[in-house]
Amino acid sequence: MDEPKNANDRKHRCPVCREKELVPILYGPLPESLTEDRKRGAFSWGGLVMKPDSPRWKCGYCQRSFPIDAV
Ligand SMILES: [Zn+2]
Repeated sequence: MDEPKNANDRKHRCPVCREKELVPILYGPLPESLTEDRKRGAFSWGGLVMKPDSPRWKCGYCQRSFPIDAV
């Protein structure tokens, strides 16, 4: 089944390699419900503690990460 696409859902393509869309980096304890999403690469896990300068986006292709305002 196809999920309906939200027209307002802006995709963030990697500004470096432009090969992939960036995935959000999540911090803190992950709920069990996100385990499957993590496995399929819907997001990246940055660790338990988010610092003010922690990156918020990650490229699954070149593995670079970016701050929230970089995309
Ligand atoms: Zn990239």
